[in-house]
Amino acid sequence: MSTYSREKLHQALKHFFGYDEFRLTQLPIIENVLNGEDTLAIMPTGAGKSICYQLPAVLMPGITIVVSPLIALMKDQVDALVANGINAAFLNSSQSTDEQQRVIKGAQDGKIKLLYIAPERIPANPETFFTFLRKLNPSLFAIDEAHCISSWGHDFRPEYLKLAVLKKEFPTIPVIALTASADKVTQQDIVKRLDLRTPKEFVSSFNRPNIHYYIYPKKNVFDKILAYLKKHKEDSGIIYALSRASTEDIAGKLHEAGIKAAHYHAGMDSAERSRVQEAFQRDEYKVIVATIAFGMGIDKSNVRFVIHHDVSKNVEGYYQETGRAGRDGLKSDAILYYSYGDIIKLKKFAEIEGNPQQSAISQKKLQLMQDYCEHEGCRRQYLMQYFGEQFPAYCGSCDYCMSSLEEKDATVDAQKLLSAISRTGERYGAGYIIDFIRGSASEKIQPLHKELKTYGIGKDLKREQWQWMIQQLLYHHFLDKIDDQFATLKLNDKSWKLLKGETQLKLILKKEKVEEQEEVEDLGYDIGLFKELKVLRNEIAERENVPAYNILSDNSLIELATYFPQNANELKQISGFGDYKVSRYGAHFLKVVKEYAEVHKLSSKMHFKQPKKETKPRAERAAKPATNSTMKVSFDMFKEGMSIAEIAVKRSLAPTTIETHLAAYVSAGELDINRFVSKEKLEKILATIKLSGQSTALKPIKDLLDDEYTFGEIRMALEYYKKVNQ
Ligand code: ADP
Ligand code: ZN
Repeated sequence: MSTYSREKLHQALKHFFGYDEFRLTQLPIIENVLNGEDTLAIMPTGAGKSICYQLPAVLMPGITIVVSPLIALMKDQVDALVANGINAAFLNSSQSTDEQQRVIKGAQDGKIKLLYIAPERIPANPETFFTFLRKLNPSLFAIDEAHCISSWGHDFRPEYLKLAVLKKEFPTIPVIALTASADKVTQQDIVKRLDLRTPKEFVSSFNRPNIHYYIYPKKNVFDKILAYLKKHKEDSGIIYALSRASTEDIAGKLHEAGIKAAHYHAGMDSAERSRVQEAFQRDEYKVIVATIAFGMGIDKSNVRFVIHHDVSKNVEGYYQETGRAGRDGLKSDAILYYSYGDIIKLKKFAEIEGNPQQSAISQKKLQLMQDYCEHEGCRRQYLMQYFGEQFPAYCGSCDYCMSSLEEKDATVDAQKLLSAISRTGERYGAGYIIDFIRGSASEKIQPLHKELKTYGIGKDLKREQWQWMIQQLLYHHFLDKIDDQFATLKLNDKSWKLLKGETQLKLILKKEKVEEQEEVEDLGYDIGLFKELKVLRNEIAERENVPAYNILSDNSLIELATYFPQNANELKQISGFGDYKVSRYGAHFLKVVKEYAEVHKLSSKMHFKQPKKETKPRAERAAKPATNSTMKVSFDMFKEGMSIAEIAVKRSLAPTTIETHLAAYVSAGELDINRFVSKEKLEKILATIKLSGQSTALKPIKDLLDDEYTFGEIRMALEYYKKVNQ
């Protein structure tokens, strides 16, 4: 067993990286690595894979060898480690022989904790390389972007195959393989090819809760994008377009409109591409208009938006591109402008001459992308189910969920669908069933089936609506899908209950289409100070020749501009300030905060930020809804005895906003529900929630109750209900 208690690991995380909490599966992964076991870690982009080997690396006695395919990213990672006072270096083809020798010497002298190596650095006959490694006496091997070893993956790199013998050469040294690749075949292939020994596999959810998804019709798209950029002047982002010519065109027009934008595509020479990429990393360009060639090497954590000017070829690509937003965990937008015309264009591209099999796959994937864009339901639910995860029908942060919703009885439609499945013998997938229920004249429909009464029974609904219905039935377990080639739909006990009318199905539907409504910004931090801190950060970054977010993330700046720390001790409680950063940059940042606070008559609010809680490694921590610093301020004020109304006045926020903040703590079990709702009222509301059959929308529940129940009470009760029913 590892000699590190969870307490110690938390301390190390704070000391070296300045973070208070582990994310997702980071902690169990790190424990597994420190126990000397092999590990396969699957986490979405931006979730924080690096810490999973970087923290063990600083705790283990020897050197950790990190294999990573992307040279640009490698430099960035090493810079980030060095900025935290951790000795790291890399070896790749971008360096001179002298530089390489210096790194090798440093490693041999035991001065380096993490050595990043590009796979192309491993010679075709790796014997000498292994001899070199053996001398270094490594403690751990980390294989980043491990899907590159699999020809099933989307980015196969033959150089990675050289790693296949690593485990034979170093049987006792633990290996951690990391990837964001969601698909099972690739995962199994990684384990097999790397020859991992009884590895523990950790798969995190692919949901990116801080990314908000929007799909809008593609009309006057340039004006819309420009309006968005003008509203988000401070933010950086990527605009993806299909063709090289259009990236140049759009970037040019943006430039004329006064936006710091540049284009990027594979037709540019490599020096120019690096220049643009680096200028973007340093925030000299706010916006990059690019083809999908842009992004692989980007590790910029504060990308606030990703806009798709054109439709993507498939959902995998789209999701990967949108995933480049919000790696720092702050709210970010993914916006796609959809037109059917784009689909037609892409259909032509998807046809690969002489390869009917590949063409069919591409066409199918494009069809699913189209389904996503036309989907009448929660975008996030669609995406999660696409990647094989169950997710409720309401996320609260996509264009669908943010329009006004209402609850409808869907029992009859569900019955139509289930009986169609039953009558055709439970032998078909969704496509056939939908064609059948809508009475398609296609020859694909068996003649016998055209005689059935249920044939055409669902003409009144659109294809997408039936698709959505199937998704909801699956989600609520009123229907099963068999994992065979055809994804056959089958009935279960619950389906029969619904068919017989013994139970009902209520679903949340969109009431009306509200387009591009802009939510009211609730900053919760001092924007003036934030801007000043950004200036300071950029100055330091420029001086040290590293990207700004390597000095400090936006999130750290936001905390500074929320709590106004006044001394080094207080500074230590700000996320991202590990001991090294406090000693190195602390004084600079404190100076700006203190001066600003003096001029604006602000005092430290550090007492509102709870000191890091003692380690309580509870399983529920992962399930805890996200709370953030602005919520925390409200929470702390409330704990100090202020009422919701008082907090609202003091913070110049709406009382409903404060309620939402506090509700998150009710849901996390940190606030007692009875402080907001009396016992009697709570009981009645809970019963009504059950009765309504849903626990997401407020309005339908309010309608079922008397006037004496306020939205605030219902909101709190809902959070409580979710907590006890999770
Ligand atoms: P990935 O490799 O999974 O795409 P990274 O390892 O680059 O993601 O991490 C993304 C960002 O999240 C980085 O800025 C990193 O410093 C930050 N991060 C990682 N773990 C934590 C944590 N426990 N708390 C706060 N920030 C974290
Ligand atoms: Zn949603």
